[in-house]
This record gives sequence, structure tokens and C-alpha cells, in this order.
Amino acid sequence: MDAGFFRAWVAEIAVVVETQRDHLTQLDAAIGDADHGTNLARGFGAAQVALAEAQTPTPGSVLMVTATTLISKVGGASGPLYGTAFRRAAKALGDKPEADLAALAEALEAALVGVMKLGAAREGEKTMVDALAPAVAALNGAVAAGAAPADAFAALTDAADAGAHNTISMQALKGRASYLGPRSVGHEDPGAASTALMLHALRDVAAAQSL
Ligand code: ADP
Ligand code: MG
Repeated sequence: MDAGFFRAWVAEIAVVVETQRDHLTQLDAAIGDADHGTNLARGFGAAQVALAEAQTPTPGSVLMVTATTLISKVGGASGPLYGTAFRRAAKALGDKPEADLAALAEALEAALVGVMKLGAAREGEKTMVDALAPAVAALNGAVAAGAAPADAFAALTDAADAGAHNTISMQALKGRASYLGPRSVGHEDPGAASTALMLHALRDVAAAQSL
């Protein structure tokens, strides 16, 4: 996976968050302030503009431009959190010209660690961590088992989907939704849903490039 692959991933995220903007915003309307879809559509739209003007010879540089843009253009909790996720992933990928599945798994794990640290969040608190953590664990497991890329990406997205779904029964303990207390139960967390969408985009780009 080279810089072109990672550009294609960010471009696909931009398409998906635009397509799913209203859905994400409706999820946020139920337990937050109804801005998650617009936040991400604005942020990834801006990332596309920034990438169009940037020289990015490596996967890490693509993700770093994305990170910087998200941090500067997206307000709310999710801008700094996703910005940190992409920045940590970028740093993990370093300046190598390509990343294999194991390097990708390490980068996503670094993203998870960064989000958990910045958000002071753990699994079970109804946040994006509840989609990303099981997804990273599943990808690590697939890599350790020597799975083919298509199977590894399927494990990643299946775990993210299940993790996002599992947030429905959780009470929010972090972020704006936590103000609702027990009334946050019964709704999917918007950040967990958007994390799953971003990982779907990754799987779809890999499939389109016959990985
Ligand atoms: P805001 O809550 O500021 O309006 P968004 O609506 O864009 O920001 O994003 C909300 C999402 O951010 C939540 O659904 C949750 O997944 C995630 N989130 C909020 N606070 C935290 C935190 N402390 N740690 C991890 N994720 C968080
Ligand atoms: Mg919000």
C-alpha cells in the first residue's frame, strides 16, 4: 500500500461521510448536538482540498496532511480525536514508501492508543473507541494468523460493525452524550458509527485495488 492507496482511502472517506452525513447527524441528534455528520463532511472535504495541493510521497505524509486538516477544520470533540488518530497513524508509518498489512495494523493500533489517551476513554464508554478497539484487535489477529488481505479487511470491518452496534446498549461515560446519563442508552454512538464507515472505506479501497 503506497501513498496513492492512502490518498484513495482518504478520498473514499470523504465520499462516504458526505453520503452518510445526514445519518451521522441524526445519530448525534439523539444523544449529542446534531453536528457529527457536518463536522466530518467539512473536515474530510477540507482534507481533499489540502491533499490536492500537497506533495505526499509516502503513506505517512498523506495521513499527516489529513490529520493537520482535521485538527484545524473540525470543531467539537471529533476533530481533535480523529486528527490525533491520523497523526499517530502517520507517525507509526514513518517515511517508508509503502506499508504492508502488519504496518497498517501497527498504525491503526497507534491511532487507537492516541484516541484513548486524548479522550481519556476506555472500551465500554460508548465512544469511537468501541468500534476502533475491536477492529484493531481483529486486524492484529488476522495478521498474526497470516490471513489473506481480503480476509483481514473483512475481520477488521466485521469487528468495527459489531463494536459500533454494541454501543447501542451502553451508557455514555465520555463526551457530550454523557450529559444524558442513562438516557443515552438505546442509541448508537455517532463516533463509533463513523469509525466503522472509515474502516469500510479502507476495505473497499483495498478490494478495488485487488489487495
Ligand atoms: P461533539 O460531541 O463535540 O459535538 P462530534 O459530534 O463531532 O463532537 O463527535 C462526537 C463523538 O466523539 C462521539 O460520538 C464519540 O464517539 C466521540 N467522543 C466524544 N468524546 C470522546 C472521548 N472523550 N473519547 C473518545 N471519543 C469521544
Ligand atoms: Mg456533536
